[in-house]
Amino acid sequence: MAIKGRYFMTDHSSIYTLGKEPYEIVRAFCPDICSKMNEFSIEILVTRGGRIGSGMGALLEGLWGYMANQLLFDENEHFFDIAWMPDNQYNDFTIVEKNVSWNPDDRTGELFRIEAKSMNRQADESKAHFDVLKKELGKNDSLLILVWEWAAIDKTHRYPKVIDYYFGRALDVVELRDTLHVLRGGSFVSSSNCPDGCNPATCPHDGEPLNASRIRERLSGPDSTKGNKVSYAANFGGLVRMLKTSNTSAKSAFQKYRSTDTPQEAFISFIFRNYPDEEKNHYGINQLRAVARQRNIDPAGLSKEDLYDLLKHDNPNRCIEELRYCN
Ligand SMILES: [Zn+2]
Repeated sequence: MAIKGRYFMTDHSSIYTLGKEPYEIVRAFCPDICSKMNEFSIEILVTRGGRIGSGMGALLEGLWGYMANQLLFDENEHFFDIAWMPDNQYNDFTIVEKNVSWNPDDRTGELFRIEAKSMNRQADESKAHFDVLKKELGKNDSLLILVWEWAAIDKTHRYPKVIDYYFGRALDVVELRDTLHVLRGGSFVSSSNCPDGCNPATCPHDGEPLNASRIRERLSGPDSTKGNKVSYAANFGGLVRMLKTSNTSAKSAFQKYRSTDTPQEAFISFIFRNYPDEEKNHYGINQLRAVARQRNIDPAGLSKEDLYDLLKHDNPNRCIEELRYCN
């Protein structure tokens, strides 16, 4: 049966019956997509060794798109496809309406976009950056992050296994990222007051981030804000780094997000459970001691390292829940 018009306005599509937006449907499929990826990888992407920085992350991001398309296609009830953004160096996807012509320039036929990132859990620090500007995002544009590691199949063979993922609205992460950026002393260019002295009507720099030293964070920032040694700072939007808080006001804003059930909290917990050192570094020993006392553990004489390990002992793959509510 041909579906006319935009399907969420049609009468009988299963999506309408489900009462879910396409964003919610793709999100609901994420666990299945990751399982399917791992089934594929354990068959095909088997290797001896397993180098970090092998380009495997980019391959996995692409694989997510193929598997998502296959699952959504297999279902045959969903009236959209996953398309690759053309002319883009990353694996970024667009959810487009099936059988509707698509124009990426004006977003005709698009439902929402997905920016895909991957992080290797065994790497010291993730290089993944999410530095898209707020003004470039639509309501349901999403951020997908795949966390993977080299998992052993036998004594000599390994495969890249997806062990966790994040899928959420990009604007929610942007809110957290931009709030902490400003509290660290950073700022955003306003076209009405551009450091390059642009005409406000044509300034292309509106919303570009500058760091606390007024150096541009992205190559596309104002020319007059280049650094001395580097053309741009490139710290903005580091998926792990964006959570750093160096002063009281940043810490208190951070804890405000953490102590509520917000999408921002979901993102922070996602990073902390996959990079526990970040969680440990974020909190002081007094906060860990307070949690220990809540659990009737005497923290006397324990180093921060030991204390953290002890508190994580029961479930190393979870965040320390009590730290969400500490002062
Ligand atoms: Zn400008």
